[in-house]
Amino acid sequence: MTTYDFAIVGAGIAGASLAAELAEAGSSVLVLEAEDQPGYHSTGRSAAFWEECYGGPEIVPLTIASGAYLREHGFLTPRGALYIGRESDAGELDAFMSRFADSGATIERIGRDELEGRVPGLRESWTSAIWEPACADIDVAGLHAHYLGRARQLGVGIACRARLAAASRTDGVWTLADTKGETYRATVLVNAAGAWADDVARLAGVKALGIQPYRRTVAQLRTDPAPDADLPLVLDIAGSFYFKPETGRVWLSPHDEDPVEACDAAPEELAVAEAIDRFEQVVDWKVLALERKWAGLRSFAPDRLPVYGFDPQVEGFAWFAGQGGFGIQTSPAAARLAAQLLTGAASDEMTRTIDATLYSPARFP
Ligand SMILES: Cc1cc2nc3c(=O)[nH]c(=O)nc-3n(C[C@H](O)[C@H](O)[C@H](O)COP(=O)(O)OP(=O)(O)OC[C@H]3O[C@@H](n4cnc5c(N)ncnc54)[C@H](O)[C@@H]3O)c2cc1C
Repeated sequence: MTTYDFAIVGAGIAGASLAAELAEAGSSVLVLEAEDQPGYHSTGRSAAFWEECYGGPEIVPLTIASGAYLREHGFLTPRGALYIGRESDAGELDAFMSRFADSGATIERIGRDELEGRVPGLRESWTSAIWEPACADIDVAGLHAHYLGRARQLGVGIACRARLAAASRTDGVWTLADTKGETYRATVLVNAAGAWADDVARLAGVKALGIQPYRRTVAQLRTDPAPDADLPLVLDIAGSFYFKPETGRVWLSPHDEDPVEACDAAPEELAVAEAIDRFEQVVDWKVLALERKWAGLRSFAPDRLPVYGFDPQVEGFAWFAGQGGFGIQTSPAAARLAAQLLTGAASDEMTRTIDATLYSPARFP
């Protein structure tokens, strides 16, 4: 039986991008994916934006480092983002500006006149905003397919309907078994299982880190007027909604964050109703129809930073988890960095400005 250098659990954007990067570095790689197809969970359910400030100042270096790769490969379409606020949110807007002042993100305060020009039909109570010109839409399906394709081209085996069920390590090699009873061998086991990251750790005898999945809902609305194609991503500075245009429709989220067990997430009626109610308080557009709704899981470590690198206690076990709400937009730099950490390679142009210790699994007691 082949002994792979790396077996990666999960073929979402995390597993796919890391598989491609490890194979690019010359390693032999196997990816095990529980579902019929890669991308069924969080990766297939995102709101598909690249937003410099999303996830906080400690995520900005990963996002910016990924931007060049995403642009170069044609996965970004410029959109711009606005964090909007009411009179009473002035303090929040100021605090946001200070928090990101030295982060590398390009942001500026704008007043009602400019805001009105960017969001037609904006209700009067929204008086100022922060404008982030670099925000872009991401072609998520294209990016995921790019990494899966690159991985396959470089000889990576991607086994679907292969849910890891058992893992044991003898003489420096993992023996892995899926729920169908197929077995595999690998020197390093990489946990890229998204919402199931803690479960995968436990079944390999590794201490869970407390990676918690939270449900997030998105609704697709038909509105009158339909949103302009160049409407920015509009986010509430107080964090109670965001929306953006998507081929003549509005994608709207109530920015919900309900802690749940890892599962096939489904939208709750209440979250959708709240989203529409909040949206109607932002613009004077009529909501004509709720066309589609979905939910997905965003999984965070306790400090809300991702976890990349070898487990400090169990030899041959590595984490690539806790991608939260920024796992797509950070994937190129995150995967490159993780591949460097796992193979012992030096940082390169893409990762040079990233402090990997921020994301180390060793930061947890
Ligand atoms: C509504 C919503 C909007 C979002 N919007 C954005 C956005 O605009 N921009 C952005 O960058 N990010 C966004 N995100 C976050 C982004 O989607 C995630 O960070 C990212 O998809 C996580 O990727 P992943 O590969 O870690 O997880 P997943 O895509 O969930 O992949 C994990 C995989 O592991 C598999 N797995 C689990 N257990 C096992 C096992 N035992 N054996 C084998 N396989 C297993 C699962 O089947 C799954 O396919 C959003 C998320 C949601 C829910």
